[in-house]
Amino acid sequence: MTEQTPPLIKCQDVSYNINGNSILDSISLEFQFKSWTGILGPSGSGKSTFLRCLNRLISFSDGSITYHNKPIESYPPSKLRKKICLIQQKPLMIPGSVRENLTVVKDWDPEFKTTNSLLEKTLNQVGLQALILDQDARSLSSGEQQRISLARGLLNNPEVLLLDEPTSNLDPRLARQILDTIQSLAFENNLTIIMVSHDHSLLKKYATDVGIMINGKLIETGPPTILDHPREHDSIQFLMKEPS
Ligand code: ADP
Repeated sequence: MTEQTPPLIKCQDVSYNINGNSILDSISLEFQFKSWTGILGPSGSGKSTFLRCLNRLISFSDGSITYHNKPIESYPPSKLRKKICLIQQKPLMIPGSVRENLTVVKDWDPEFKTTNSLLEKTLNQVGLQALILDQDARSLSSGEQQRISLARGLLNNPEVLLLDEPTSNLDPRLARQILDTIQSLAFENNLTIIMVSHDHSLLKKYATDVGIMINGKLIETGPPTILDHPREHDSIQFLMKEPS
């Protein structure tokens, strides 16, 4: 019998309550090494909150999350957030050059070290020219800013990328280009991807697994084919209303 590889991240009955409201309700989900999991669900269903629990940007109220078989609370938050790196929907650019944006981490992380050649290599990895290092980051297009945000994450050698609607500000062609880049990076660097997206065509193209979250509950999980053939009543109702 072949031994099953343990999941890279395992969530067991994770709940999050705030001001007496249940935002996440007993979520159990495993993420395998090098998988690409898509999470979708109506707005306000807790998807972003769940991503934030995974790298301790917020502390869940109940349940457990393990990373490499150890409780995530056993990792210093700053180290965990480098390994499990959140890329926000809207890239946050500080005033200044691309170089300043890529190295801003050094202001609070004394361990952060980089070199010009590493910055150039990382920009190339995300499909940008090293020439833009000294350009004003805010003058760049939203697609370029999203790539810079990705490069900033990659400089920390992450193992997991949490992508929160990473392409919702981009047109479909640019969205595919950036996800193609992420797919190559994931392949080259053994990354595990957890992506919130409402775009069925992108989920079907890139995800290996999909989870449907409604009202803080994980209703259904499976391969992306569940988007066309959901089993659960609530998923069927939700997917019928969604443009595919
Ligand atoms: P989604 O990403 O699925 O759109 P969110 O995780 O952003 O959903 O939000 C889920 C619910 O939790 C929403 O109703 C939101 O208003 C609420 N929520 C999230 N964070 C807080 C907070 N800090 N205080 C109060 N309510 C919150």
